[in-house]
Amino acid sequence: IRPHHLRLISESAARPGDDPIFTLDAEARRRARGGEKVINASLGALLTEEGELAVMPTVTEAFRSVDAARAASYAPIAGDPSFLDAVRLDALGRGELARRAVAVATAGGTGAIHHAVVNYLDPGQALLTTSYYWGPYRIIATHSRRKVRTFPMLTDEGGLDLAAFESALESLIADQGRALVIFNFPCHNPTGYTLDAEEWKQVGEILARAGRSAPVAFLLDLAYAHYGAAGSDAWIEALAPAAEVCDLLVAWSASKSFAQYGARVGSLIAVVDDEEDRKAVFNALSYSCRGTWSNCNHLGLLAITRLLTEPEIAQRVAVDRREMINLLGNRVEAFNREAARVGLRHPRYEGGFFVTVFTPDGPATAAAARAEGVFVVPLEGAVRVALCSTPLADVPRLSEVLGRAVKSVGG
Ligand code: PLP
Repeated sequence: IRPHHLRLISESAARPGDDPIFTLDAEARRRARGGEKVINASLGALLTEEGELAVMPTVTEAFRSVDAARAASYAPIAGDPSFLDAVRLDALGRGELARRAVAVATAGGTGAIHHAVVNYLDPGQALLTTSYYWGPYRIIATHSRRKVRTFPMLTDEGGLDLAAFESALESLIADQGRALVIFNFPCHNPTGYTLDAEEWKQVGEILARAGRSAPVAFLLDLAYAHYGAAGSDAWIEALAPAAEVCDLLVAWSASKSFAQYGARVGSLIAVVDDEEDRKAVFNALSYSCRGTWSNCNHLGLLAITRLLTEPEIAQRVAVDRREMINLLGNRVEAFNREAARVGLRHPRYEGGFFVTVFTPDGPATAAAARAEGVFVVPLEGAVRVALCSTPLADVPRLSEVLGRAVKSVGG
């Protein structure tokens, strides 16, 4: 008998194993290998119509072009200054906000979210996000001994529930004296929703009111930047007044915008109004880099810097990206048409990797679809559909199966 055989600390002793989405993906692949006609709309990577990972040739070329010795050397802890300048401009444009921003390199957008959580919340405090949200927000929060609070994301009319947002923000500030808000737009994962200019204006006003009463940071998770409909960068102008009283943070990522999921290149960008505070924020974020992964992938930083800063390459990568956006756009258009035909309910969907379909019972709907060979991710009151991994020709069957699955649970 070994009475104390598990030597993990208690909070680590019963962690869930495989990520549920990767588990679903594995089952879909296994059944496809067995000869079944499977539609795997579970995983968040953009696949070609032939089911291969979609890559951008110019990006591959840039990665191959980096000098081997430079790639092999350590990157500076905070990232190469030329990379940091380039991502600041890419995220914020050339206006005033970029001039008031500092940035550090992070291990993807995930690393940026981690750094925001550990530097803007005390242990035990909660971040605030939408009721539908990317699951790892909770893992990052829990792992660092923080929590997640949510507000109901959408009104009955299908817009962002601004009143619910403001009241949740006020009560969080009343409870803990500070707030970190995380939004993920454009092309929100999992709903596909993108805020319009008016919604951004009102979000800015809510943040400005809150920022005058307590320390407030607003983190925009820009994982799907570049996939949004025209005008989805309206947040830059709309949040400028709020950025005078709040810290405006951006989680920037090369994973989707350059189709380089494995490179783990990202950045946390912080617009901080006061110059001295800006220095303190940069130091805090650099310290977090040292205390987690030390230095990011230098090959990735150098290649992405070329892609962002050299005009001829930047132009070619924009053409590559346009092809990917069109690939996805055709599926989005087909989904909107087919979903209307079979009567699926979903948020406004103008582009992006995912959309959610509302249903009275997410897990039962996903199970019913799975029985027919269609893999989607169950959520509470919805299922997430990854159009990014669904070939155009499969969109009608996907919609029909989901229509039947939702009806089978009383929707
Ligand atoms: N945020 C959202 C909403 C995502 O869907 C993802 C990736 O799936 C990320 C952040 C982070 O991705 P990465 O760490 O690869 O940049």
